[in-house]
Amino acid sequence: MILEPYSRDLAGVKFGRLTAIERVGSDKNRNAIWSTRCECSEFKDVLALSLKSGHTKSCGCLAREIAVVRMQSNRPERKAADLAGLVFGDLHVIRRDSTRKRVYWIVACKCGSALFSAIADRLRNCETRRCATCARKLRGNRAVTRI
Ligand SMILES: [Zn+2]
Ligand SMILES: [Zn+2]
Repeated sequence: MILEPYSRDLAGVKFGRLTAIERVGSDKNRNAIWSTRCECSEFKDVLALSLKSGHTKSCGCLAREIAVVRMQSNRPERKAADLAGLVFGDLHVIRRDSTRKRVYWIVACKCGSALFSAIADRLRNCETRRCATCARKLRGNRAVTRI
């Protein structure tokens, strides 16, 4: 029998969450396939190649857990979404402000005052909804109505 590069004895060796138990065969390219047991007690047949390269580290439970974590951390979305044309409060988003490192968008207030840049996150969180002039006016009005 021709020995393949990955046919060495892996029994008992741990790869991530998987512990190799015994060699169960080869794939069509004659790469060794090992039966492994995951920490979650699932069994899985894996190519020795995948174990050694770190490609396969669990029966699939690890990937599932990572996927869940990713889904959670993606909320709220972090990448620069295209806000052009959207309206936030009194602001109409015109275009991306590429002169800044952070994600800023150039917006126009409906009062017609000069265009200005607003941080994308603040627009989406409704923290920035109008120009400074309108905000000042609104604060003034509120202060009056509160009294
Ligand atoms: Zn598992
Ligand atoms: Zn305004």
